[in-house]
Amino acid sequence: MSPVRHAPFEGPLSRVRSERQALRSPALASELTTIRYHIMQTKAIIIKKQNTSEYDQWVTCYTEEFGKLKTVAKSILKSGSIQSLHLDIFNLAEFELINGRGMPIVTGAQMINSFGGIKSSLVKTAVAYFFTETLDKMVFENEKDEELWSFLASFLGELNKDDSCPVNLLRQGQSRLLDILGYLPETGSCQVCDDKLSDGDLGAFNYALGGIVCKKCFLSGHGGILISREDFNLISGKNGKSGDEIYKKSVLDGIFEYISGNKFSSLDFLSMVR
Ligand SMILES: [Zn+2]
Repeated sequence: MSPVRHAPFEGPLSRVRSERQALRSPALASELTTIRYHIMQTKAIIIKKQNTSEYDQWVTCYTEEFGKLKTVAKSILKSGSIQSLHLDIFNLAEFELINGRGMPIVTGAQMINSFGGIKSSLVKTAVAYFFTETLDKMVFENEKDEELWSFLASFLGELNKDDSCPVNLLRQGQSRLLDILGYLPETGSCQVCDDKLSDGDLGAFNYALGGIVCKKCFLSGHGGILISREDFNLISGKNGKSGDEIYKKSVLDGIFEYISGNKFSSLDFLSMVR
């Protein structure tokens, strides 16, 4: 199909700041004159950035209005680009995008919160990275989810401010996120014999079965890893308060890696910095 030359803009030119910006970029301007497009505005949190060419980057973000989106930020790597400050990883920003033929193009981004409290701490950075990595690996694009959006925005806000124990926040956030994504394991009964688990029997966690194996089945050879009371509460969706030490190792990390079928770089990073 040959491109339509000078197709009309769908909105009044004077109304949209991004179009003026776009027209300053000759490459983008020529792209816009050949296609029909529409403008999208949304709040978004930046979860991943990759260089694609000398000056451009792919920016994956989780948006309030459209769920996960992979976008392209043109000329962001040119020296003096103002946009690069607004499009830093983890930033909450007001986005303006043009959706044309391919990937949405970022035409404007105004940072709302850069979460400086997270970026000034390696441990908090690792914790935030875990959640952005999860969204990158386990969530489909273009699926709006208000619950997931408000979880992510409020979690980063809390992590930014909290100075007690970021790893505890990580554990509580992991449990909450598994629930939102629909992966919270079965903890009411044994996944092998189906017996109800008695109060004192924490059993073992079996990744493949997606839940708890009772002591009897564990001892008779069904696999699993023994878990703590704290882990049991977390995977049951009970986010009780707890001390700092017990949360350091948790079955939750393995659950995310098992479900996604990937190793998480953020968890390696966390084990190095904490
Ligand atoms: Zn059993």
